[in-house]
Amino acid sequence: MERADVLVVGAGAAGLMAGAFAGRAGAGRVVLLDGARKLGAKILVAGGGRCNVTHHAVDARAYAGSSPNAIRKVLRRFDVPATVAFFRELGVALKREETGKLFPVTDRAQTVLDALLRANREAGVEVRHPFRVETVEKIEGGFRVMGEWGAMEARRLVLATGGRSLPKSGSDGHGYALARSLGHSITERVFPALVPLVLPDGHPLCGLSGVTVPATLQLRSATGRKMTAFTDSTLITHFGLSGPSTLDLSRYWLDARHDDPGAHVTANWLPGTAPHDLDADLQALGTTVLRFLRERLPDRLARFLLETAGIDPETTGATLTRDGRRALVEAATAFPLPFAGDRGYRYAEVTAGGVPLAELELSTMESRVTPGLHLCGEICDVDGRIGGFNFQWAWASGHVAGVSVVDG
Ligand SMILES: Cc1cc2nc3c(=O)[nH]c(=O)nc-3n(C[C@H](O)[C@H](O)[C@H](O)COP(=O)(O)OP(=O)(O)OC[C@H]3O[C@@H](n4cnc5c(N)ncnc54)[C@H](O)[C@@H]3O)c2cc1C
Repeated sequence: MERADVLVVGAGAAGLMAGAFAGRAGAGRVVLLDGARKLGAKILVAGGGRCNVTHHAVDARAYAGSSPNAIRKVLRRFDVPATVAFFRELGVALKREETGKLFPVTDRAQTVLDALLRANREAGVEVRHPFRVETVEKIEGGFRVMGEWGAMEARRLVLATGGRSLPKSGSDGHGYALARSLGHSITERVFPALVPLVLPDGHPLCGLSGVTVPATLQLRSATGRKMTAFTDSTLITHFGLSGPSTLDLSRYWLDARHDDPGAHVTANWLPGTAPHDLDADLQALGTTVLRFLRERLPDRLARFLLETAGIDPETTGATLTRDGRRALVEAATAFPLPFAGDRGYRYAEVTAGGVPLAELELSTMESRVTPGLHLCGEICDVDGRIGGFNFQWAWASGHVAGVSVVDG
């Protein structure tokens, strides 16, 4: 039986981080096993192929799932300056863009993947793939992992198998079964996050496919209580909505409607404009409503909102009726978005749910259930906003796991 000191299952962002730091810390023989034929698929597709490595202002409140306090405990052990320094040391300089996102100066995700693989190589870590792990078991003095390729044993095991999003990358949720078989629970609900949302077939908004505008998407409970809102670029597509605002909102809508089927979303296409301000502007309007809207919105959306409100585009302020004005204010600032569902894991950037952080010792990411087992990355019940937050979780939790697998 082949034996290592540490086995890391999953060579994505979190596993590569854990491997590199385990190797550097002198954990002995460290072997990374990954089921994928091609390594690092998610790092390569991230950020449109540029890899949004992190965000300059990472805060636990930008995450959901486990409690912000628990998430913060891990994030502060390997923060953004530490991430920047780590990549710089590997020869990957990061640049900060206006949005606060950090990318490699090369604008190439491959640079990031190459650096992580090099860090593992230089730390003496063996990376093997395609080595899919089918089962794991606790044995005397460690763990045995098995797959079609055979079996291996180690005194410590790191599970970094990700979630269910983008299953063709190799992250198909099997890691949850592995964690369960070692005594962990998985949150009752596991669902796509950062995922485009679908409108009912034939919804008129889909006719504006291709239009991108800044908008505020507001989620409310059935009783009208404001739950959360995101203001960002919003892309109208042939199936519904995408773009950062929609992706950020998606997990909150999917979560809310599970308990409250009446939870609903509206769009304010004029973010920052309150209904009464728009109403006042329309009352004082010295021009046509179309011209007014076109100064603020793309032509197609402006015409669509007028049609929705039943107003002739050439109507002037003087001839706009009170009912017409109210209908237009509602269409522009509280446009109902009766989402029917989401685009699923194939299009989701992350997975909500997973192993609750309450089951881990957060200073080491070691299991409180099965000593010697560590978990890191997206397999944990942590999902972040768009903008580099999910990788930062992977770097931080992977680092904590990696430096903690040294015995004696
Ligand atoms: C299209 C897209 C774009 C994204 N862009 C960004 C971005 O720009 N910035 C950002 O912060 N986040 C982004 N994300 C999210 C980010 O990629 C993930 O949060 C992050 O990769 C999670 O890292 P991980 O190592 O935990 O899991 P993963 O990256 O999913 O890695 C898990 C690894 O485990 C392997 N594995 C799974 N099961 C087994 C098994 N049974 N045996 C062996 N190996 C196994 C898989 O093959 C995979 O390599 C994006 C995600 C997607 C899908």
